[in-house]
Amino acid sequence: MVMGLQSPTIPRERERERERERERERERESEWEGREREKEREREREKESGHCKKTVNEVTPEGKNVKLVIKPKGGTKYVQPLDVYGFRAWKNFVRRFSDIVLILNHNINLHARNNIIKLQFLVHNQFSSPRFQNFIKYSWYKSGYIDEKPNAFQNPVEYCYSVENEPRCHICGDVAIIKCAWCKKSLCLKHFFDEYHYCRNYIE
Ligand SMILES: [Zn+2]
Ligand SMILES: [Zn+2]
Repeated sequence: MVMGLQSPTIPRERERERERERERERERESEWEGREREKEREREREKESGHCKKTVNEVTPEGKNVKLVIKPKGGTKYVQPLDVYGFRAWKNFVRRFSDIVLILNHNINLHARNNIIKLQFLVHNQFSSPRFQNFIKYSWYKSGYIDEKPNAFQNPVEYCYSVENEPRCHICGDVAIIKCAWCKKSLCLKHFFDEYHYCRNYIE
């Protein structure tokens, strides 16, 4: 009787034990695969950084010390300074300019390739003004590359589109649309865009 009661339970337990063993084996296998994949990625990263290091060394000017940091894939929006802070202001700057062209009904086709390039050059010139050094620095601070928080600063959109103090173009007296971040002069659409106000004359 006793044997009769025990016999069906023992195989079932053995079966469960075998199942658990198979389960553990599968876990070990997938762990091993995971480690192999990680090693493979590590090898790729090393190859990449070795290649980058070589390129950076080749173009580094004498007397300059360049620290190379390889960002993880997909991390651009967290660690690339312009993605973290700069590009949004750049896009806002361009959008604001396009709005002005529309509002003033000015005869510029901003979709024409030459005008796209011209506008990008002008925006780059404005953003390069020493006035916005802290603005640029801030994007490095916000991405975690420098510890020192830059002092208060104006961003290019705020600065360049506030022409209240000098609402007339200093050349022709027409309605000013922009204040140059270099020379601080107010300019109309014609004298900023058509005549290509590419400025290097910095007035503090
Ligand atoms: Zn003008
Ligand atoms: Zn200027």
